[in-house]
Amino acid sequence: FPEKEKVAPVAKIKVVVRKRPLNKKEISKREEDIIDIEQSSNSLTVHETKLKVDLTEYVEKHGFVFDAVLDEDVSNDEVYRETVEPVVPAIFNRTKATCFAYGQTGSGKTYTMRPLPLKASQDILRLMNHTYRNQGFQLFFSFFEIYGGKLFDLLNERNKLCMREDGKQKVCIVGLQEHRVSDLETIKELIERGNATRSTGTTGANEESSRSHAILQLAIKRRVDGNGSKPPRLAGKLSFIDLAGSERGADTTDNDKQTRIEGAEINKSLLALKECIRALDNDQTHIPFRGSKLTEVLRDSFIGDSRTVMISCISPSSGSCEHTLNTLRYADRVK
Ligand code: ADP
Ligand code: MG
Repeated sequence: FPEKEKVAPVAKIKVVVRKRPLNKKEISKREEDIIDIEQSSNSLTVHETKLKVDLTEYVEKHGFVFDAVLDEDVSNDEVYRETVEPVVPAIFNRTKATCFAYGQTGSGKTYTMRPLPLKASQDILRLMNHTYRNQGFQLFFSFFEIYGGKLFDLLNERNKLCMREDGKQKVCIVGLQEHRVSDLETIKELIERGNATRSTGTTGANEESSRSHAILQLAIKRRVDGNGSKPPRLAGKLSFIDLAGSERGADTTDNDKQTRIEGAEINKSLLALKECIRALDNDQTHIPFRGSKLTEVLRDSFIGDSRTVMISCISPSSGSCEHTLNTLRYADRVK
């Protein structure tokens, strides 16, 4: 493995909160911005309006501190610099880095996540073509989703996939298309193709994507021999996960049976994810992957030298107060 560039130490787990602006609908309903952000101290305050027994209103303040707190005027470029950029060099050096977008439907997960893989690819290709030139590194791209506990390839007509584990605790997703990529244009096309497949699934755009976890992976592999007789070996990996809407985990009392089953699965996976990240943070040797399909699929990203970036997306509006507090409490527990 390359020794050339010493990789700067980056935190194992970083939790970042991003607030989006009020949208037209919220403004027209006269909803208020209840989130105050203080970027310099990485803190934020939620102003929750509550009712006393005599039905008069009062405001309860909830304060939180995270590794970074990004206000509504922060650009996607800045989000990239704050979250993924610092972990990119490490993936040439055995690290598996994973970036999650968490939050209720409509809070900005997809808006936040979409540009990140392309920006990361740009940096990865630059490192491959300069710092690590002629060292046998190759970049591979895959994109799939977990829906109702099942896996589907977003680059191959939503083909159903199965997961298998080999004796060495390595996860293998049978049939998943992995594309070798070496230019940004191809990567851009693959991202667009996957996103289009995700949102035009069987039943209808937003509904569908809010119930699935989308997983985009950039794998760095390395040829260990000069003549290409052996397959390249995995050096590191960068995963981007646009999680299902966090409020969907509460759909467990819905009238529709299918919705209930999916809600239960989402709930299970978000709880399992939290447990895995916490176990990582405490350097526990036992990581509870088996809790859900999501954590099982990510198993090898939680083993060894791993980095986790959690971007918690929140709406500023008074109408979303309860969901926002849930999101922040979740984020608080993984940090
Ligand atoms: P989610 O994926 O969490 O359901 P989206 O990313 O689809 O939410 O965002 C919902 C809407 O809000 C979209 O129309 C999106 O363009 C807009 N939006 C989200 N975050 C921002 C932001 N930071 N700045 C401006 N618009 C945003
Ligand atoms: Mg989305």
